[in-house]
Amino acid sequence: MLDDLCDIHNHFLALENRYYRIYGKYAGRYRLQPHLTKLLKRTKKHWSWIPRDTLDAVIIRLHLAWERFFNIAGTGKPKFKRKGRYRSAKFQSGYKIEDGRVRLSFKSWDVALHRLKFDKRWFSFHQHRTWKGNVGYLQILRDRVGTYWLYVVTDDTSQEVLPATGESVGADFGMKDAFLTLNTGEKIQHPQFLKQSLEELRKFNKALSRKVKGSQNWWRAVYKLARLYRKVVNQRRDWHWKLATDLCRRFDLIATETLNLDGMKRLWGRKVSDLAFGEFLEILKFKCFKHKREFHQVGQWTATTKPCSDCGHHNENLTLSERQWTCPECGSHHDRDINAAINVLRAACGPVVETV
Ligand SMILES: [Zn+2]
Repeated sequence: MLDDLCDIHNHFLALENRYYRIYGKYAGRYRLQPHLTKLLKRTKKHWSWIPRDTLDAVIIRLHLAWERFFNIAGTGKPKFKRKGRYRSAKFQSGYKIEDGRVRLSFKSWDVALHRLKFDKRWFSFHQHRTWKGNVGYLQILRDRVGTYWLYVVTDDTSQEVLPATGESVGADFGMKDAFLTLNTGEKIQHPQFLKQSLEELRKFNKALSRKVKGSQNWWRAVYKLARLYRKVVNQRRDWHWKLATDLCRRFDLIATETLNLDGMKRLWGRKVSDLAFGEFLEILKFKCFKHKREFHQVGQWTATTKPCSDCGHHNENLTLSERQWTCPECGSHHDRDINAAINVLRAACGPVVETV
């Protein structure tokens, strides 16, 4: 089914590309969906066994991608996908879900009646947690290792309010000394899971390159590598969730800076991807909502590094390599990151640091 959905994605993307070349616009789902209806009756009958809303979801996803391309600067056009790279399917109706098993309804051709009939099939799954709220839709995803995941998306937005602590914190992200520096002076180190597994990754990559492409052994090596990457991602995500939970338990208000991720990637390369600041921020934002904590992000252009947190003097001579500095105005000694964290917290709480 994922291969068929991949076909559909590519077919409609080709249509959209042609439309874009001729008219300079995108056709959008309201033109494409009626077209799909025609295709299903004529040339693409082999797609009609898939539930219609699953097919529509492919078109809607394309529609949204084109919308982003037109509205958000810097977004590329949607791309063609290779077989096996289309990874998920959405089920919005016609399913039934119970503990540990799900019924999906496909269609099959009834030879005797000479028409399509519903073909309901049960699939079992390992359920690792219960869900709350009303089920909105199901999404099935095949990851690179070849494991299938069932996502049950519900309308639940309930919160688990944590007891107030009366504490606020400012946090500064860093590449050099620590992943996160708090205004209390605490420095949190990132375990850098990709770096930890680098040697093993190299070994697996080497093993892969020795195999004949497309052979049984080659595929085995591909999955082995994919499994290791998945492990790294899971380790990192787990650590991020735990850190976010810890911060939410300890503080009522959490303030961070807005990151210029593209600029950082250009400067630092792989290390930024390994630390995954962006992902951590998303998790932290969600956790703050979940536990009813205040979350502030200080604007990108607010100065947080250069002003002295004691007197507000702007130290324009501060370079990136200086980790410690002494304020020429008031003489107080600063750790670069802790000073920035204090400024972040102050900027988030209202009155900005006075400039001299
Ligand atoms: Zn000072």
